[in-house]
Amino acid sequence: MNPPEQETETLTTPEPERTAPHPVPPAQGAPAPAPPTKAEAHPVRVEDLNAYYGSVHAVKDVSLTFEPNRATAIIGPSGCGKSTLVRCINRMHEEIPGAHAEGTITLSGADIYAPNVDVVSVRRAIGMVFQKPNPFPTMSIFDNVASGLRLTGTRSRDVGERVEKSLRGAGLWEEVKDRLSSPGIGLSGGQQQRLCIARTIAVEPDVILMDEPASALDPKATLKIEELVQELKHRFTIVIVTHNMQQAARVADYTAFMLGEGGPGSLVEYGETDKIFTNPEDPRTEQYVSGKFG
Ligand code: ADP
Repeated sequence: MNPPEQETETLTTPEPERTAPHPVPPAQGAPAPAPPTKAEAHPVRVEDLNAYYGSVHAVKDVSLTFEPNRATAIIGPSGCGKSTLVRCINRMHEEIPGAHAEGTITLSGADIYAPNVDVVSVRRAIGMVFQKPNPFPTMSIFDNVASGLRLTGTRSRDVGERVEKSLRGAGLWEEVKDRLSSPGIGLSGGQQQRLCIARTIAVEPDVILMDEPASALDPKATLKIEELVQELKHRFTIVIVTHNMQQAARVADYTAFMLGEGGPGSLVEYGETDKIFTNPEDPRTEQYVSGKFG
């Protein structure tokens, strides 16, 4: 897994048909829109992943597939490598000085670490939402969502429509439609996080990585994010790191349990969320989900 050299290529996946979970209402007299169809998302395959910070081995031998149109939770005690794993999936890990990763990660079969793959196109295809909402502080609500679109060369006459569609998709449009030119940082924490989700989906990624997206939010705002995850998985592949096991049980179709046990974090068990929480194979999973440690 070496950063690309010389010329770069854009990472391409077959373009799925997208439908907004909250379609724009029709003009008066126009026919009602068709119900949203499930767009085909793309799988992410991680094989034999090892990640390091200098000589510190943080993630060991992780192999796992994140299924398309599903939400997969990554759970495990603090320090077991959950964030490191997701940062490898959109090549942010390599931005940390001294950090590197080994192994293979593919998006719909395309190696995201292949030489000459453009890292910017990887991050466009695999978007990320962080623990702390991070709207661009000097930008308006509109410009926060439009920023990625402008960078990707969206025609300016299409930008407004895409911003509205993204804000609707993030469940924020009704709350902000009358103040689009106000600063993004003037919103509440939960609204800021949905603004960041709108910014992420505006560029139509294939995958959305969420690293503890609700851990800085109050219960009501958390619920909104969880409802949003349920909506978004109809269009995207969702990976969500969470400390909150109830949250994993509520939103995730599949759950991956990681553990460090004093060394690098590895995958202990992966399966359907119901099974992981009610009838896991590994006794360490049972102990963790029943709150005996962590
Ligand atoms: P988690 O998300 O499960 O809490 P992390 O992926 O953040 O775990 O961390 C995994 C391991 O990597 C931990 O031992 C942590 O101390 C180490 N680590 C994380 N970030 C860095 C960093 N920037 N530099 C050095 N070590 C790090």
